[in-house]
Parts: sequence; C-alpha cells; structure tokens
Amino acid sequence: MTNDPSARGSRSRLLKWLGISGEDDTVEESASAEIANFRDPSAREIWLPAKRRLLGKVADFLIDHDLEVMPWTLEIAYDYVTGANPRLAQLILERIEESQAITLPWLEQVMREEKGDGTAEQLVALMSRLEESLDDFASTTSSARNATSEYGAALQQHVDDLEQVSRAGVVITELATLAKAMMHRTREIEHDLNESEQRAKALQHSLDEARRVADEDHLTGLPNRRAFEAMLDKEIAVAQEAGESLCVAFVDIDHFKRINDTHGHAAGDRVLKVVADTLSRISDARCHVARHGGEEFAVLFRALGPEKARDRLDHAREEISERRLVNRATDMPFGRITFSGGIADVFAYASKSDALRAADEALYAAKQSGRNQILLAGNHTPPLQDAA
Ligand code: GH3
Ligand code: MG
Ligand code: MG
Repeated sequence: MTNDPSARGSRSRLLKWLGISGEDDTVEESASAEIANFRDPSAREIWLPAKRRLLGKVADFLIDHDLEVMPWTLEIAYDYVTGANPRLAQLILERIEESQAITLPWLEQVMREEKGDGTAEQLVALMSRLEESLDDFASTTSSARNATSEYGAALQQHVDDLEQVSRAGVVITELATLAKAMMHRTREIEHDLNESEQRAKALQHSLDEARRVADEDHLTGLPNRRAFEAMLDKEIAVAQEAGESLCVAFVDIDHFKRINDTHGHAAGDRVLKVVADTLSRISDARCHVARHGGEEFAVLFRALGPEKARDRLDHAREEISERRLVNRATDMPFGRITFSGGIADVFAYASKSDALRAADEALYAAKQSGRNQILLAGNHTPPLQDAA
C-alpha cells in the first residue's frame, strides 16, 4: 500500500493531522507553513476543534465497525471520513447500505483489489507504450536494412568497376581499397540490424506473454474483470456485425463466506477453482467465462438466446450442485456447493451498462428467491439501435 504514491499522500496527510511526522519527511514548503501555523496560538485555536472533530470521526468509524486500530485501518478510516479516496468511500457506503459488516477481511480484499487493479492498469499502459516503440523500431530498422542492402549492392558494383580499371594508377587502387572497406562496414551494419530485428521480435513475444498474464486471474486462470470488459466490447461488435444475439450472465457462489469461515481461506480458494473449472467447461469460441471478482463470475453467450443461455449455465449449476466435494486437508465435506446466476439479453437494453445492471439484478433476485438457480432478467427498457 505504501508504494502507491496516492496512498503515501493520504498517509502523510493523516500523519500531519495527527501531528506526527511520518516516514515521508519531504514536506513541501506550503505544508511546512501550514504546520508552522499550528504553532501560532491564534491559528491553533481555529484548527484544534477541527482536528478534534476529524480524529473523533476517524475513531467513531473504527469503533462503530469494531475494527482494530492499526496504521492501515486508520488510513482507511481517514480516507473514508475525508473522502480522500472516493472509490473506497463509495464501496464502504454501499456495504453499509446493504447492512453488511465492514470487517477486516472485507477491507483487506478491497485494498487488495484496489492495489491489484492499479498495478495491472499501469502495466497495461506501460506495455502499450513499449509496443508502440517496438513498432517504430521495427519499421526504422527494416527501412535502414533495405537502404544498407541497396547501398551495399551499389558499392559492390563500384568496387568491381574500379578493379577493372585499377591498372590506370595508384589513385584508383586506393579508391578501390577504400570502397572495399566501406562495403565491409556496410555488411557489418546490415548484420547488426538483422540481429536487432531478431531481438525486437523476441521482445514482442515477451510483451504478448506479459499481456496475456495481465489479463488472467491468477487463482483460476480465467480472464479477469478487465479482460472481460474488453471481451464484452469485442463480442458486442462481432454479434452486431453478424446479426447474432448476445447474452451476459453474472454468477455468484452461494454462501461462500461460510466455506471460508468453516474451512479457511485456502480451502475457499480450492472451491473457487473447482467452480471456475466447471464453468469454463461450458465455454467455447462463442461462450466466454471470466472471474469478475471475489466469488463472482461473468459469462458471455454469443449466438444464443436467453433461454438457451440459461439452459447451458444451468447445466453447470446442476453439475456443481451434484458434486460432493471434500476438504482434502481435513477430510471434512464442504457440503453442497451451489451458485446463483442472472442473465440478460444485451441487445434488449438501451445500453451496455443497462444490460449489465439487469443481469446483476436478476442475480440478486435469484439470491432473494432461494439461491441455487439461474433467473432471466425481466422488465427491460426498449432497445436502441446501438447497444454499445
Ligand atoms: P451470497 O450467497 O449472498 O452470495 O453469500 P456469500 O457468503 O457468498 O457472499 P458474501 O459477499 O457475504 O461473501 C463473499 C465472500 O467471498 C467474502 C470474501 O472473503 C470471499 N472471497 C472473495 N474472494 C475470495 C478469494 O479469492 N478467495 C477466498 N477464499 N474467498 C474469497
Ligand atoms: Mg456469494
Ligand atoms: Mg458476491
């Protein structure tokens, strides 16, 4: 967390509020002036109540949610009450609205996802820039190589001509020697350029591999959320072009928290992998499964109507619910593993985000009406021409 500059910023702001000089001693001039103001008695009178109120709010947050006082929970509390991290504040508010507890594991997961997302985004941006440079390099080297080989051929012709007339005198002989040296040097450059091109190709290959890893969820090997979003845009374009239907589904494992609570996080991870494997078995060239986050998956069905898509997903649901998984570390049965799902017909909605929301609402309805079932989204808004 501390490697992230924005997190470092919020930590140093927090430490400043607390009146502690943090690990980050590089306080800017304006900030030093502000601290100096605290020492001025009149400024102190103004700032002290505000400082107390803020600390009170930070403390209330930790006490209300029964969270331990630790550097990172203090930082989260500060970010939440001051709005320094709007996304985090939004997630916490949503969780509170859903009457779900703000627990340490949940906060850890949110921070992990935030950090993971940021790193992956940075990596992808870096890779795109590198790829552009590689393209430039490849076209430059190939035109340089063409130029040197043309130049080399012309030089060879001159050398041959000069050798024909070398009997004419010393000057011509020297010219021939010089031209030979130039030709030799040109061949060397040509060779170096060839090698550089080979190295650029190898680098491009590594980049492709890095891009693949950045799009993959490390636990399940499925495409991750960012890859899913790119896939959705691509599938919308392909389906529109071919006049095919496209459905999107959200799947969420039922009562997964209980599995973690009873068997531990590592066993929970193994169950996640089994569900991921079961779901990935329904995938093919027109059906894509991704891990959307946590214990939630997303599935795209191209060229399948909602009912057919539901049947296909239901098949996976039935398969997993019929298995009797055992925790191999303790020999304790996991009990029945089930999931719920919601499906929406992408082109039946005015926009992509409306379709995603509809699938999510159908998933919520499936949870509300007993879990272990797949529901189709209903009551959609009239379709527009362009669903993207
Ligand atoms: P519901 O049926 O309503 O979906 O209940 P639930 O318990 O599945 O849902 P809840 O959102 O309360 O809990 C989800 C849990 O999934 C909490 C979180 O710790 C756990 N989880 C998320 N990602 C992972 C992961 O990568 N590995 C493990 N082991 N657990 C995870
Ligand atoms: Mg769940
Ligand atoms: Mg969930």
